[in-house]
Amino acid sequence: MSTSRTLLHEISHLLTAIYPSGEASAVARLLLEAIGWGTVAVFTGKDSDLGPDERLRLQDFLRRMLDLREPVQYVVGEAPFCGRSFAVRPGVLIPRPETEELLRLVEADARSGLLPQGGLLDVGTGSGCIAVTLAKLFPAARVEAWDISEEALQVARENARRHGANVCFRRCDLLEEAGKAQALPAESGSTFPEKRQHFSPPAQALSPAPGQKTAPLAALVSNPPYVLPSEEAQMAPEVCRWEPREALFVPQEDPLLPYRALARLGRKRLAAGGKIYLELNPLLAAQVEELLRAAGFGEVRLVEDFDKKLRFITGTNPFLC
Ligand code: GLN
Repeated sequence: MSTSRTLLHEISHLLTAIYPSGEASAVARLLLEAIGWGTVAVFTGKDSDLGPDERLRLQDFLRRMLDLREPVQYVVGEAPFCGRSFAVRPGVLIPRPETEELLRLVEADARSGLLPQGGLLDVGTGSGCIAVTLAKLFPAARVEAWDISEEALQVARENARRHGANVCFRRCDLLEEAGKAQALPAESGSTFPEKRQHFSPPAQALSPAPGQKTAPLAALVSNPPYVLPSEEAQMAPEVCRWEPREALFVPQEDPLLPYRALARLGRKRLAAGGKIYLELNPLLAAQVEELLRAAGFGEVRLVEDFDKKLRFITGTNPFLC
């Protein structure tokens, strides 16, 4: 008979083959929780043997992680984001802790009254973690989320249901949509008002007015693909072998492709004073900054993540005279 603590120790030891030891015991705990041996059982020293089903599941988890290098989040089917647990499986990018900071930027601006009225759009939603979190933070806002992958949208819808979030999901291709957003408003003479209208989106104000096809957005948020193929050699096998390539990589010869499309879409769809919030590759930070300025955004600002890397950019759609 092995106690849960001995088991935790044994699994942690196996996992040190692929994780630093501190992380290995946290991951071992996740695996035990996933088979129903939660933290309480472990710390109260539950001392019955694993049942045959539990043993088989645990063996399967360990084989997938150690032999196939499958990420633990896919193995247990869950990943945390902004205090909630999201269903994840191959086909959606696993939410990253730094992306939580992107959400915090939107939240801080909205709460300080820096956003105009309008909807919120998440482009390339993946697991839906950004859109669902936005919908929970701003329940009166119309939140829309796009992805090109039907498989991702299924997971995102599942997550919206799980958290009771009201999100309108649409299958669409950013590049195609941005292509339709041809006509940019005149860029000369743009100005920013002293005082912004407070962000308090009543549901009806977010629906398109009659005759208007799409309602203006208060914020456009996206964590687009931004990894350069030349970076792949330094990346963990859990990422390269398992996570969707289309959510990770940009073409080496045109890494700004998603950013050009997002800038164009933002200029077309954002309300005056509406803001764009993008995650980015620190290697591309200066180029994306230049791109947003050239597209006509004001107040363009690069923001560091907790690791002191330039990871986010924000910009404001100008008010026109
Ligand atoms: N931040 C992710 C990584 O390091 C990449 C996510 C993305 O391309 N948007 O793998």
